[in-house]
Amino acid sequence: MKKLLIITVALLIILTGCKTVIEDPDVDLPDIIEKDPEIKGVNISPEKVLAGSGEKVEFKVEAILEGEKTIDITSDMKFSSDTEKISFENNKALVGEDAITGEEHVVIAEYIGAEEVDIDLYATIEVFNSLEDTIDENGVITNPEAYDMVVNKERNLSSQYVPQDLVKLEVETCLPNPEINQLRKAASDAITKMFKTADEEEGLNLVARSGYRSYATQDSLYHGIVNKYGQDYADKYSAYPGQSEHQTGLALDITAASVNYQLEDVFGETEEGIWTKENAHRFGFIIRYPEGKEDITGYLYEPWHLRYVGENLATKIFRQDTTLEEYFMNKE
Ligand SMILES: [Zn+2]
Repeated sequence: MKKLLIITVALLIILTGCKTVIEDPDVDLPDIIEKDPEIKGVNISPEKVLAGSGEKVEFKVEAILEGEKTIDITSDMKFSSDTEKISFENNKALVGEDAITGEEHVVIAEYIGAEEVDIDLYATIEVFNSLEDTIDENGVITNPEAYDMVVNKERNLSSQYVPQDLVKLEVETCLPNPEINQLRKAASDAITKMFKTADEEEGLNLVARSGYRSYATQDSLYHGIVNKYGQDYADKYSAYPGQSEHQTGLALDITAASVNYQLEDVFGETEEGIWTKENAHRFGFIIRYPEGKEDITGYLYEPWHLRYVGENLATKIFRQDTTLEEYFMNKE
């Protein structure tokens, strides 16, 4: 540590904006500079970054002096985050395996070079688990457990994949098969909250029809349709085994008495269907196969098919009025 100058003015830091500006330009920061040049500001980079699970992000902090000169003060900063999903090794952030696409986590860099100096800088890590990083050479998804995983006609689940935290649904159901009255714990908790809210806010009675479906169930369903109606029909109206979102335990078909507990397009025009479209994201669900997006999702309009992706991602997809596929494609 070099000589310490006395800081006479409390350092007020403006926390927003790309550059943190010290309000009083006459204040000198001690022990980070040779002489006593004026510090114009302090800058963290990257200030906002996309990073996926398992990825490391290196942060750098610079003091900006007069004449645009900068001094690297990274080693005088202590880094931390507002979440346990991000851990630090000095200035390197590691994004946890449980981080979900769409989450935004705050990184805090605190100046520890001198007690008298109080500088806190903030950056944001936006989680993004790219589609390219989550598939193997055979087209099999490598992150089936992740709430932000994408399964479709190009991205398969392994025939062996069975979610480990399936639970029995706590909401009203309308079919007797115990297998399909299950979802993964987070999705089940979320649907319980959603159905309860629909009832409390609008007096609407939503009913679960079909949740988890094993690979074997989908396999016999698909081949049953092929045998009865032919391959073209089956490919249009049923998912190929390994390509059904129901195998994830994160998808649920819902219905209501107003459509006689069936799965029909008209559900989208019922009070229950409209409320679902407008509110499902609050509970972490998206309408996975919206109208007019068949070319992108590979599936016809299904106003009843909900997919749990967590509240952050669901809200982003809802606000952007987009699909799961497009959300990822637009960020790549
Ligand atoms: Zn479905």
